[in-house]
Amino acid sequence: MLSFPSSKSCPIAKPARQHLRSSLLDSFCGSKSLSFNPKSLQIKAMEASLDYHFGTQLQTHIKTPTSLKIAIIGFGNVGQFLAKTFVSQGHTVLAHSRSDHSDTAAKLGVSFFSDPHDLCEEHPEVVMLCTSILSTKSVLESIPFQRLRRSTLFVDVLSVKEFPRSLFLEILPEEFDILCTHPMFGPESGKNGWAGLPFMYDKVRIGNDDIRISRCGRFLDVFAREGCRMVEMSCADHDKYAAESQFITHTMGRILERFGLESSSINTQGYETLLKLVENTAKDSFDLYYGLFIYNNNAMEQLEKLELAFQSLKRELSGNLQSLYSRQLFEDEGE
Ligand code: NAP
Repeated sequence: MLSFPSSKSCPIAKPARQHLRSSLLDSFCGSKSLSFNPKSLQIKAMEASLDYHFGTQLQTHIKTPTSLKIAIIGFGNVGQFLAKTFVSQGHTVLAHSRSDHSDTAAKLGVSFFSDPHDLCEEHPEVVMLCTSILSTKSVLESIPFQRLRRSTLFVDVLSVKEFPRSLFLEILPEEFDILCTHPMFGPESGKNGWAGLPFMYDKVRIGNDDIRISRCGRFLDVFAREGCRMVEMSCADHDKYAAESQFITHTMGRILERFGLESSSINTQGYETLLKLVENTAKDSFDLYYGLFIYNNNAMEQLEKLELAFQSLKRELSGNLQSLYSRQLFEDEGE
């Protein structure tokens, strides 16, 4: 018998409990149209006390009232990485990608749709773009918006931000909400959990009504619940800071990869850091790195600054060497 705790033992207010009860029943039935007799359902796990933590304890099995239906478009490296956490938090996850990722999706508990029309007809509340920066425009233009609900939240996780912001504002129907985000971590740096890792977001266009505000909040809460450091910042500021930090990090990693670092038994800690940097950045696709360069207006300036810094260092070294030689020459002549 599906049992709910008595009002005495449950800290959730009665109206909320009733809402919760019907949501849970909906989740078990899958659809309201199914005929269902709650009395016949045996769910022993539910007999444990239902407190505020019920969501985290049972979320892998039960859709909570806060759970979202999230569609991921671009089910590559990052799409799959984020999907794992969405599923573990009890959200319903759908995916579409250029390649067939249906086997991986099935293993992760994600429904894969090779046709974007079919995915949109599932009416996800959130559509999250996880495609490469370079393909974003063509992928966005290929989404059949008319099959989505009039109010849908569009999110992107691109590593550049002004570009998707302008694209969303230009291409998406006006009724859609827009949230631009950048998890400042990926499958490599976030493999041991997301606690303390920065998550940048910009609420570019979120409608005023409670449902839209709550939907955006519930989406952001996915990351907050994992312990991410939530940073609200404009897309323009993001691109400025990211060019100075992330783009330079990737550039150094790729230079050192080409340089060919080798490990030996006397590696210093600093050298180990460099080896790790190469490992972290080389696993990302070249498309990603190229996207950071092409679609961040500040990247070229940073690249030039880096080159000047390298030349200036080289000049200082050669200058010192030259004065040493000259001193030695004078000394030899003096002798
Ligand atoms: P990526 O190489 O930037 O993107 C791979 C994804 O893009 C795959 O889903 C791929 O689809 C799709 N794609 C590539 N070219 C396409 C095309 N011409 N048409 C349609 N789809 C195309 O690798 P990623 O690391 O997974 O990054 C995905 C996004 O997350 C990027 O925008 C990146 O900036 C952002 N991001 C990355 C990290 C990170 O640490 N890697 C962290 C935060 C944010 P198929 O797999 O179906 O071919």
